[in-house]
Amino acid sequence: MLGPMKPELMDILACPVCKSHPLQLTVVEKKGNDIVKGSLYCEKCKVTYPIEGSIPNLLPQTK
Ligand SMILES: [Zn+2]
Repeated sequence: MLGPMKPELMDILACPVCKSHPLQLTVVEKKGNDIVKGSLYCEKCKVTYPIEGSIPNLLPQTK
């Protein structure tokens, strides 16, 4: 399990579906260096993966 979500993780996070890298990060709320709330977006799949409670949810999303 990954987490908490930090900007450094962007270097290793890839889309679980198409393995596209890097993902597009949107930060809604930060706490220190942790990204508490936000989202990761895969341009190829056009899918958004939510970050809630500092944990990135990189499970394949159903549209
Ligand atoms: Zn993808």
